[in-house]
Amino acid sequence: MGPTPDFKRPRGTQDILPDEAAKWRALELVMARHAESFGFGEIRTPIFEETELYTRTSGASSDIVRKEMYTFLDRGGRSMTLRPEGTAGVARAYLENGLASAPQPVKLWYLGPLFRYDRPQAGRLRQHTQFGVEVFGAASPLADLEVVLVAHDLLARLGLERVVFRLNSIGCPACRPAYRERLVAYFGAAGDRLCPDCRERVGHNPLRVFDCKSEDCRALLDGAPLSVESLCPECEAHHLRVGEGLAALGVPREDDPRLVRGLDYYTRTVFEAVYQPPEGAAGAQHVLCGGGRYDGLVEELGGPPTPGVGFGLGVDRLVATLEREGLAVPPAGEPEGPPVFVATTGGPSEVEGLALARRLRGAGFRVVTDLLGRSLKAQFRAADRAGARVVLVGEDELARRVAAVRDLDSGVQTEVPVDRVVEVLAEWRRR
Ligand SMILES: [Zn+2]
Ligand SMILES: [Zn+2]
Repeated sequence: MGPTPDFKRPRGTQDILPDEAAKWRALELVMARHAESFGFGEIRTPIFEETELYTRTSGASSDIVRKEMYTFLDRGGRSMTLRPEGTAGVARAYLENGLASAPQPVKLWYLGPLFRYDRPQAGRLRQHTQFGVEVFGAASPLADLEVVLVAHDLLARLGLERVVFRLNSIGCPACRPAYRERLVAYFGAAGDRLCPDCRERVGHNPLRVFDCKSEDCRALLDGAPLSVESLCPECEAHHLRVGEGLAALGVPREDDPRLVRGLDYYTRTVFEAVYQPPEGAAGAQHVLCGGGRYDGLVEELGGPPTPGVGFGLGVDRLVATLEREGLAVPPAGEPEGPPVFVATTGGPSEVEGLALARRLRGAGFRVVTDLLGRSLKAQFRAADRAGARVVLVGEDELARRVAAVRDLDSGVQTEVPVDRVVEVLAEWRRR
């Protein structure tokens, strides 16, 4: 032991030494390449923003705003906050940089530190690193599916197979007011059986009671009305399609009607990826990543109505999980050749397209799929803009188990059995 130093690192922070830092760097590269293989581009935003960006979007009564923000006055007397979450800053940048008038959807990924004044004894860091993706401008359930696939396939690529996606829908501005009333009535009747915090929460946002850790509140939740029972037909259809899509893609999922997530901006889909340790192994199950849809967020920042969906993944927790499982970070691999656009014509061809896109990514291609439910013509235009080869799996093709593959340079289209598409494109790549 050396001499006792005068300073220690702040509580809830960590120093990462060279051996460990090398692992982080390898992992960061895997995450970057993985996001890029879906056609996401990187965005870097400031680590501090005007405080109001967070109070307005997370909600004044959220735990983040009430207890966890690092807020300070700068020397000009302006209130600033170290970013406690990633999405609000990215949405602000989307608007400020005119991305709202670029061709949609706009797909962004980011990686960087977040800051929350949390209880370090609960295993939470006050500075932690988050990897996240955001899709702006796509209202279709296809976008929800893609976002979950980014998370699921990343974890699978890292060797984490025992991950279940918990899924719920918390409705939209059309159906939530009625649900909210039912909740307020239910919790109102419970009176002082709610903890003091929740008695206050019920007035602002009664959904937050679902996140409360107190025993009394948890007991009350068993009988509470559920959001899935109050969905409008549009929200219900959306929720169904996300669930069916995940089932068709083989993503392990569980409906969790009490999952709400603690931020005001979520609408419709919310989800969490829960890691289950192997039987008999040390460690408890824990959430590796969480996200959802935020169709009102951009508008709330003064922009046009713009749907959005994304997730955030805690990298510190991921590193610890990989370590416990004895998993080394695999090589990142570099996507080769021109990108591929998988075009579909709706119905079952959409999920088939997502599945084919995954197989192509597995073979080292960068692959984009339609997230807007566009016409074929519009999809071909988007593919041209991206300089992409097109693979068409329409309903006609699907019935014959083929895909139409169009060569980029000659424009010639050939039909190939669906099972041979990866092989054929890999062959073209070598030419
Ligand atoms: Zn609704
Ligand atoms: Zn409570």
